[in-house]
Amino acid sequence: MRDPGYLSKRVSNTTMDQVVSKSDCGTRRGINLDLDNRDVIDRHLSESVKLDGKVYRAGTLVTPSLVAAARKSRKKDLPVRSALRCKAEKGVCQKCLGLNEESTHSPIGTNIGIIAGQSIGEPSTQLALNTFHTGGIAKGRSAKSANTFQTLNNLLLLPKTLPDAATLAKDSGEITSISQAPQGGWDVSIGRKKHYVRGDHELSVRKGHRVRKGDQLSSGTVDPLELIKLKGVEPTPGPPLR
Ligand SMILES: [Zn+2]
Repeated sequence: MRDPGYLSKRVSNTTMDQVVSKSDCGTRRGINLDLDNRDVIDRHLSESVKLDGKVYRAGTLVTPSLVAAARKSRKKDLPVRSALRCKAEKGVCQKCLGLNEESTHSPIGTNIGIIAGQSIGEPSTQLALNTFHTGGIAKGRSAKSANTFQTLNNLLLLPKTLPDAATLAKDSGEITSISQAPQGGWDVSIGRKKHYVRGDHELSVRKGHRVRKGDQLSSGTVDPLELIKLKGVEPTPGPPLR
């Protein structure tokens, strides 16, 4: 693992232009957040739910009393909008972002990239180490943000591609072949899936190695977004997120 300072600097350098870009991207997809997760408050429902005999429509703001109603209905979680699912082409929409610490929507045009960059240094290191158990990070912001989902949401404000990104395994399996690519670099195959490793990166696997989806195949900076996509962020399956 590289020096964490290097990584967080690189990350904050690349998050400058991430903004709240529109009011509502219109997605119907969200994530299920546990009722015990304080981050569920101040988000918008991604679909309608019937709780304690009452229908709460998609888009409704999750308040403590809505959470109480969900508990009464023996629910464990609620489907909420998330930057993880935002369809906005650039940045993230207000609905997927939910309310900020001042309990309002951050105005369109608000640069949230810097916020993300600041709170990301440690989490991105953790992600690069393939662990999502990041409890207690993001100190210095409100206690509310000190949980994994908030952190992951922050990561989502990163640009689509990092310069110098490491090649990650798109699948689990055995490295079946490594050959020199015509344009320089290497073609690494996991089963039939080919992965390109740039010539200025070092291979971190050999033929016959077994890798898991999301594992690093080369040197370079691990792109947290890609890692999340491959390893997943949902509370299930796998060990519970904290
Ligand atoms: Zn959105």
